[in-house]
Amino acid sequence: MAAGLEDLFGDQPPGEPDEAAGERKRAMIIAAHPDDADFGAGGTAALLAQAGWEVCYVVATDGSKGTDDPAYTTQTLIETRDREQRAAAAHVGVNDVRFLGFTDGELVYSRDLLGAITREIREFQPFAVYTHDPEPVIINNSFVNHNDHRITGLATVDAVYPTARDRLNFPEHLAAGLSTHKVRELYLWGANEPTFDVDISSVVDAKVEALLLHASQFGDRDQFLSFVEARWRDEQGRALERFRRVVLFR
Ligand SMILES: [Zn+2]
Repeated sequence: MAAGLEDLFGDQPPGEPDEAAGERKRAMIIAAHPDDADFGAGGTAALLAQAGWEVCYVVATDGSKGTDDPAYTTQTLIETRDREQRAAAAHVGVNDVRFLGFTDGELVYSRDLLGAITREIREFQPFAVYTHDPEPVIINNSFVNHNDHRITGLATVDAVYPTARDRLNFPEHLAAGLSTHKVRELYLWGANEPTFDVDISSVVDAKVEALLLHASQFGDRDQFLSFVEARWRDEQGRALERFRRVVLFR
């Protein structure tokens, strides 16, 4: 018997599906690059998986630009980052990873991108979707929110509402046997004004190990751990993932 959300998330757990109405315990985490899902929501994914939810990662780009190492060709880098992402996801209990295959660093808002994300939502039928907050260009007055992050976040928000919901959008999906879908909750990471904290202290080690499985990106373990301590811990020493939460109407 899996633990309940309140056992794992404390007194402010995320919303739960109405299983009697056919909603399912499914969360989809939609990210721009290999490693973004792990950074943004890997701890939350681990907690949901422990609670018996099915969790799926969707990665918009192929990760084909993120290295200075001349040993990689574009093709070997794509293969490496695909393999690393699958291993990292599996480490937090996520065994469903889908790549949309757009070119790293070149993401533009397009009908192709919106259609690809909408298709994944209609196919998986998640209760909750987690993605990049598309709004900030600058986060915490300290770093630039990568263009691929903003584009992925914006296309995902649009796919959630209204594109996936309405049958006349991308009718070819319905012709192929998929159904329209209403996502109930949206969680955005990288927000300047987060409204929903998840205490991931119980799974933070798994999150760190998952991130370190992206070995082509994070070489130095000690350096990475000190970065993590500074970024994720609050004053009480809890490790947090912080989101802007949107509960969509029924
Ligand atoms: Zn990224």
